[in-house]
Amino acid sequence: MTALRAGAATDTGLVRASNQDHLLVASPLFAVADGMGGHAAGEVASQTAVEALRAAWEGADAHDAAALAEAARAANRQVWEAAQADPDLHGMGTTLVAIALVHGGDGGSGELAVVNVGDSRAYRLRQGELEQLTEDHSLVAELVADGQLAADEAEFHPQRHVLTRALGVDPDVPVDLLTVDPWRGDRLLLCSDGLIREVSDGQVASILRRLADPSEAARELVREARMRGGSDNITVVVVDVVDEADAGAPPPPTPGAAAADRPDGTGTSLGDTTAVPVVAPIAAAPPPLADAPPPEPAGAPGRARQRLVTARVVAFVLVLLLVLAAAAAGIGFYARGSWFVGVAPGGELTVYQGRPGGLLWFQPTVAARTGVQESQVEARHHAELAAGVEEPSVAAARQYVRALVAEEQAAQRAVAP
Ligand code: MN
Repeated sequence: MTALRAGAATDTGLVRASNQDHLLVASPLFAVADGMGGHAAGEVASQTAVEALRAAWEGADAHDAAALAEAARAANRQVWEAAQADPDLHGMGTTLVAIALVHGGDGGSGELAVVNVGDSRAYRLRQGELEQLTEDHSLVAELVADGQLAADEAEFHPQRHVLTRALGVDPDVPVDLLTVDPWRGDRLLLCSDGLIREVSDGQVASILRRLADPSEAARELVREARMRGGSDNITVVVVDVVDEADAGAPPPPTPGAAAADRPDGTGTSLGDTTAVPVVAPIAAAPPPLADAPPPEPAGAPGRARQRLVTARVVAFVLVLLLVLAAAAAGIGFYARGSWFVGVAPGGELTVYQGRPGGLLWFQPTVAARTGVQESQVEARHHAELAAGVEEPSVAAARQYVRALVAEEQAAQRAVAP
């Protein structure tokens, strides 16, 4: 008999302020939703969709492929109704990709149903080959399908995020539905575009082949996407088709794996906890020079590669830190290496070291007092003095102030009888 074993991970990424993705691990039902909308609306949309999908699925009379598609349509209606009811949520939407082991298939032994709306994706790894099962409902995907855009141009197209279909935008939405026969050893992957944007299909396939434990594979995919930029929220669900006899067996022990299995099966915060350690492993890794990798047994090429990658990451971080330090020193030199004449709070013209208004964390400091009050120079200079008049040296700054005073005195003499 067929059974499923799953692992999942999600992470905000390095750029976005919040995680608007949601995932569902409620075997035999699994889903990923990627919400969009201002403020918290995107989070509400994806969470609503995932919860509504689950409720509709669990309440269905027959658990077949049609029931999964109907559950997706019910999720659409619920997101749409929530968006209509609350002005703050107006315009919100979400993608939804879900799979379920359903009744049907050859000899009624069960099949995998896949539903999709939007640009999250379902993939299948079968006998080492990765295949995308779903079609993206995005502008660029349609342009590529029409032959109006090359596939490699799509990646950088300015409108690559524009969806042509999403949950919650209209009271009804067409839902893509397909079914596949589950083979023992098949591995299904659900993911949000935050993974695909950073990690190529080839790299995804390589990670899915390398890590047998689904939780470990999910976490590694998220970690890889973060390492390559993490420009969006990243969510991954990995589902393995196993024999029922194997399904009950505990998966290989993996630290932090439990984080992906919250009791209710939903959530966005898996990545915030232990599911995706990111900084710690890099900081804790030995420095590259000390890390002479011991000879690996022939059976463990994956480990050796991982070591090499870690050493490269450490080297990269060190170089990055050096560059940042040099940049900071350069900015400091620039910020401190100049002078300007300004007006001190008491009205005295003062020579400052630094840049008017300061630069980053470098605030100007007093280099010399002139003993000249602002009132002693012509009013037409007051605005430029308030803004700060830059001079190449303290001597030049003093010279400028003397010139202002001389000008004012000349003007006084001119009007004197
Ligand atoms: Mn996204």
